[in-house]
Amino acid sequence: MEVRPGKLVVISGPSGVGKSTILRRLLAALPQLVPSVSATTRPPRSGERDGVDYHFIPLAEFERRRAEGEFLECCRVYGREHWYGTLASEVAPRLAAGKWVVLEIDVEGTLSILERYPDAITIFVEPAHPDQLLQRLQGRGTESAEAMARRLEVARRELLEAHRYRHRVVNDDVDTALAEIERILFAAGLPQAADTTGRSALHTNASS
Ligand code: 5GP
Repeated sequence: MEVRPGKLVVISGPSGVGKSTILRRLLAALPQLVPSVSATTRPPRSGERDGVDYHFIPLAEFERRRAEGEFLECCRVYGREHWYGTLASEVAPRLAAGKWVVLEIDVEGTLSILERYPDAITIFVEPAHPDQLLQRLQGRGTESAEAMARRLEVARRELLEAHRYRHRVVNDDVDTALAEIERILFAAGLPQAADTTGRSALHTNASS
């Protein structure tokens, strides 16, 4: 039987909006979705694993692979000193196998992806109010005042780009945001999981 190619799902949003929680729960709840692991030149943070959170590679290797056309898109993400990119090898074989592949990338990367994959499902996660970003970043307690101010400035610029996305989801309440994203994906044709358990992202406990 011929496999129907999968689709690309692109999720973006400013730092502090709660994207990583949403993604973790989404991927746990919907096994039909697979993540694309990006490559980056930034060093791993504590707890991050190579090949899981990112492919952590040196700048020289990133540049070589970029020159060899291995990236579907890559850029120095705005406000950051490092390079990030989506490897074709993470995406193309999975799409061909009928998987729905989730990219968590910035706005510039999203626009490049849309040039190649115009039917990618683009979702921008935004806060109900910009002050929420500040509260979440303060809550993490991992940032200096200067780093936080920089992140907020980046976030303000990112929020101005939200209109470029096909779908915008407000993350005031994570369960509501997840339900909205699930609705968007099923409306776009996401198949039900082969081993459907009836669980939804709403019923998966997770914090942060
Ligand atoms: P972080 O360094 O905090 O993990 O990620 C920083 C930013 O890089 C996030 O906004 C994330 O969306 C973006 N990013 C991560 N991977 C990629 C990628 O492969 N391509 C692009 N364009 N942006 C990425």
